[in-house]
Amino acid sequence: MRHQLFIGGQFVDALSGETQPTLNPHDNTPIADVAMAGRADVDLAVAAAQRAFPKWSRMAAADRGRILLKLADLIEANAEELARLESLDTGHPIKDSRALDVPRTAACYRYFGGMADKFQGETIPVEAGFLNYTLREPVGVVGQVVPWNFPLMFTSWKMAPALAAGNTIVMKPAEITPLTSLKIAELMAEAGIPEGVVNIVPGLGSVAGQYIAEHPGIAKVAFTGSTATGKRIVQASAGNLKKVQLELGGKGPNIVFEDANLTAAVNGSAWAIFHNQGQACIAGSRLMLHSAIADEFLERFTTLARSIRLGNPLDAATEMGPLTSALHRDRVLSYAQVAAEQGGEIVAGGRAPVAAELARGCYVEPTIVKARSWRDRVAQEEVFGPFVTVLTFKDDAEALEIANGTDYGLGSGLWTSNLQRAHRFARDLHAGMVWINSYKRVNPGSPFGGVGQSGYGREMGFDAMREYTQVKSVWVNVDAQIPPWYPRPAA
Ligand code: NAD
Repeated sequence: MRHQLFIGGQFVDALSGETQPTLNPHDNTPIADVAMAGRADVDLAVAAAQRAFPKWSRMAAADRGRILLKLADLIEANAEELARLESLDTGHPIKDSRALDVPRTAACYRYFGGMADKFQGETIPVEAGFLNYTLREPVGVVGQVVPWNFPLMFTSWKMAPALAAGNTIVMKPAEITPLTSLKIAELMAEAGIPEGVVNIVPGLGSVAGQYIAEHPGIAKVAFTGSTATGKRIVQASAGNLKKVQLELGGKGPNIVFEDANLTAAVNGSAWAIFHNQGQACIAGSRLMLHSAIADEFLERFTTLARSIRLGNPLDAATEMGPLTSALHRDRVLSYAQVAAEQGGEIVAGGRAPVAAELARGCYVEPTIVKARSWRDRVAQEEVFGPFVTVLTFKDDAEALEIANGTDYGLGSGLWTSNLQRAHRFARDLHAGMVWINSYKRVNPGSPFGGVGQSGYGREMGFDAMREYTQVKSVWVNVDAQIPPWYPRPAA
C-alpha cells in the first residue's frame, strides 16, 4: 500500500519522491509506504491554503458548519475502518479506538460544526456618538503539527475549530502515524470541504515540521508534542511573529486521600496511567498516596495492573496494546534503570512481556515504581509509557507541595470525599485541568491545555475559537460632534 500527500484537493507524491514505511507496532511489519513531504511540498501546501482562504473565510459561517456536521456523519459511517486504521498504526486497543477515539473525533467536528455560526464579536459601550464593535476574524493559513499518540483525535481538536473559524490549514501528522489523517482528508473532500482548505503533509519533524514553524506564509502554528520541540517551534516562529499555541508534556499528579472511595480510586488511577499504554500527556503518572491508605491501595492497584490483558491491538479482548514505536519502547524501558539507580523499587513490570506472541512488538508490562523522593528523575521527567511513579504524603500541605513540585502543569486529579479539600486543591493545583473523583475526562466543550512547561493556549470549547480568530475593533462615528484638533478659519 502506498499513501500520498494531500495538497490542493489532490493526493500527490512528494516532489522528491521520498517515502517512509509506517509500521504495525504489534510486530514491526510495514503497513504502508507514505510519501514524506519536504520543504518544496510544504510551499505547495501553503500556496494552496492561501488560494483557498478568501472564499472559505467569507463563506457564511453556517455553511462551513454544515460541512463539518456532514464530516462528523461521514466519520461515523466509516467508524470501523477508522478504528482499525488507528489501532493498526498506533497500537491503540481496538475497543478503545471504537469506544473513544472515533466517537470523540466525530463529536469534535460536530461540536465545532454547531459552533461555526454562534461564535461572535461584541458591541462595546464607548463614548457618546460612536458605535464600537469587534469582528472575530480568522487568522489565515494555520500550520498544525501533531504527535503520534492520538493522531485521529488530535487532528480533529486542531482542524475542527480552525475550520469553523474560517482558517485554512497545513497539517503535519507525526511521521510514524499518518494513516487516519489521510483517510480524514478523503472524507473531508466527500463532505464538501473545498480544495486547498485542508492540506495534509506527512513528513519528518526536523524537515516539514520545522519549515511549517518557520514559513512566512503561515500566520499561526498550533503544536502538540514534547516540550523540547515546542521550544524549537517558538524560536522558528519568530521570523514572521506567528501566533503560537502549544500543548506540551505533563507529569500529572493523581492524589488519593485517606477518605477516598478506594475501589473507584484504584480503578480510575489504573485508567489514568495505563490507558493508551500511558502515552498521554495528561496521564496520571505520579500516583500520590496518603500514608494511611498507601499499603492497601498499592496492593489492590498492583493486582489490577498485573491483570491487564496485553495483546494484539486488533483483538477485541485486548486491554493494553504495544507502545507506538520500538524506539519509544526502549526509552520507556530505560526508566526502569533510572529508577533503580536512584534507589527506586520496581513493584511491577519494568520489562517487556515474555509471551512469545508479543516478542516482535513494542510491548511493555504495566510498570509501577516506588520512588524514594518526589525530586527523583522518575518523579520529575515525563516517561510517556505505562510507567507510574508512586509517592506518599502525610497531610494536605505535603500533598500540595509534591503535586506542584514539577515544571509541568497539565492534567491533575484527586480522590476524596471532603468537599472543601476538593475545591481547595482545584484552586491551588498548578495545572490546566483538574479531575475530582475521576481522571482523564475530555469533552469538545471543555477547555484543554496547560500552564508552565506544559504550554499555553487552549483547545476545545469557546477558548479554541478565540485561539483561531483575531479581534478587530471597528469605530463608527454615528453622530459625534468632535471639535477640530487644529482649528483653522474655513477656507
Ligand atoms: P515530538 O515533539 O517529538 O513530535 C511531535 C510532532 O512534532 C511530530 O509531528 C514531529 O514530527 C514534529 N516535530 C519534531 N521536531 C520538530 C521540529 N523541530 N519542528 C516542528 N515539528 C517537529 O513529540 P512526540 O514524542 O512525538 O510526542 C510525545 C510528546 O507529546 C510528549 O511529550 C507528550 O506529552 C506530548 N503531548 C502533549 C499533549 C498535550 O495536549 N499537551 C498531547 C499529546 C502529547
